[in-house]
Amino acid sequence: MKQKIRTLTILSIGTVSCMILFLIMTRATATTNNFNGVLQACQVALCLLMVCADYKKGVILSYAVLALSLISSLRVMILFHNMMPLPGVCNLFIYFIVLSLLSRQLNRKEQQSKTDFLTGLLNRRGLYDLQNKKLSARAPFYLVYFNLKNFPEINDTHGHFYGDAVLNTVAGRMRKIVGKKGSLSRISGHEFVMLLSAKHDPVEITDSIITSISEKISIQNDDSNIDCFLSVYAGIAKYPDDATDFEYLLKYANIAMFHASQSSAQRIRFFNKDMERLLSRQFEIEQFLLDGFSRNSFYLDYQPQYKLDGKVLRGYEALLRLRATDGSVILPEEFLPVAEKSDLIHKIDNYVLRNAMVEFKDILTKSDEFLKLAVNISIRSFTSPDFVSSLSKLLDEVSFPAHFLELEITEDSFLHSFDDSLRNMKALRAMGISIALDDFGSGYTSLAYLTKLPINLLKIDKSLIDGLENQIISRDFVHIIISLGHLIGCEVLSEGVESEHQIALLRDLDCDCIQGYVWSMPLAYSNAKQLAAESNE
Ligand code: C2E
Ligand code: MG
Ligand code: MG
Repeated sequence: MKQKIRTLTILSIGTVSCMILFLIMTRATATTNNFNGVLQACQVALCLLMVCADYKKGVILSYAVLALSLISSLRVMILFHNMMPLPGVCNLFIYFIVLSLLSRQLNRKEQQSKTDFLTGLLNRRGLYDLQNKKLSARAPFYLVYFNLKNFPEINDTHGHFYGDAVLNTVAGRMRKIVGKKGSLSRISGHEFVMLLSAKHDPVEITDSIITSISEKISIQNDDSNIDCFLSVYAGIAKYPDDATDFEYLLKYANIAMFHASQSSAQRIRFFNKDMERLLSRQFEIEQFLLDGFSRNSFYLDYQPQYKLDGKVLRGYEALLRLRATDGSVILPEEFLPVAEKSDLIHKIDNYVLRNAMVEFKDILTKSDEFLKLAVNISIRSFTSPDFVSSLSKLLDEVSFPAHFLELEITEDSFLHSFDDSLRNMKALRAMGISIALDDFGSGYTSLAYLTKLPINLLKIDKSLIDGLENQIISRDFVHIIISLGHLIGCEVLSEGVESEHQIALLRDLDCDCIQGYVWSMPLAYSNAKQLAAESNE
């Protein structure tokens, strides 16, 4: 725009100056002639300024002004047989030609500034222009936000030339499906937006686009064909139901797209208000997590584990909590998935290990030689290459005897990277640390794997214990797991036990230990300490 203003201002000044120069040079004598010439110059300057202020309306107005001027000059010439306006008429024709050339040039520039140079689709500016028209038309429409989730990795692996070719192919496939039904734009690197009139089915079109883009893309690169597959997700927001403001529509469709990319089941999601609440809660938690260490807002609770035989205290599971700024407590199920997305999870696991060991040393009394301190470890920390060495260093630093420590891992840990996990498990066992397999029965652990794992404790997931009282199949299943655990030489603990009836059933099934609200909720550190002292009296 600035460039346009500068060009047109120069042109206006130039035109006025030329006219003045022309008048001086022709040394016209008639004052009226001089006056008409100056007037015409001013008209042209005005026209150019109008074009500069509003390109489209300015061109129309300029044509109108010049046409009026032409008509009035021709009128004088025809009605009064006066040839004096003739030079002015010639000038007007020249101005017409200049104006039409100028407007064509500006039109081309305008189109270029709204077009994505790579794909030929609209760019962000083009999209904003289009939405302005759509909003003023007030007809309902859908805004569909597409994200090519794995594009950055493809781009990094094969280079920008390859990435550009992929984006071009994607744009081509999208264009083919959308045709004249909607408009497409690329608003950032690998994010596309489609505006679709509400008379079309957004799911049908979006689904066809996703299916088409997800198919193999084959690009010729340095004499060889490189194939890739994109994972594509889309979010949909509707005007005016979800928002009447374009910024919000875009934001909402983006939020819906984010939710689609988080779920493995749905590639397309419609926006709803819960999504926004969830996302802002997630941002809030992210902030609590980031400030958590400096504000000292993490702390540990300890849930007792009991041996069923005689209700003897077996040990404690350390459970992390995060205190929000308003004093409310956020549970791990809410904050851990957020932490797991970043390296914060390593810091958290490290914090829990160190603090649990320090506090547990204080909980122990002289006669507690067999109490266990169970600590949950995330998959990411457990499978990291330096986990064993840094834990060994930490044990030395805190002077914590390794045989008290039991690490709880879930089956995902070895499903993701069986060899790394197995190596770490063996090294930890060699150091005297116990390994517990948490939430057993909730996932898809292969029984073949189970026999190879050097574990000490099998923790049966609460979901199976919940079915004990009413479902025979659940009871049989728990029985099989307990027998299997004993067969491979581990202790078996049932989690989330909430009633004495469940305890009686578990005793019948020969379960070794339990953990659950029936005998104790997770306790604050001071209460855990008191319980350990009492159980030794
Ligand atoms: P988990 O390791 O299976 O821990 C047991 C969860 O079940 C705890 O929830 C506990 O409070 C809850 N629970 C125990 N008994 C009962 C019961 O009888 N009824 C019911 N309804 N719930 C019971 P919590 O503390 O919210 O922890 C949830 C999960 O978060 C844990 O599951 C564990 O996977 C993870 N977690 C907790 N603390 C940590 C930690 O320090 N580090 C890591 N990496 N993960 C942690
Ligand atoms: Mg656990
Ligand atoms: Mg568990």
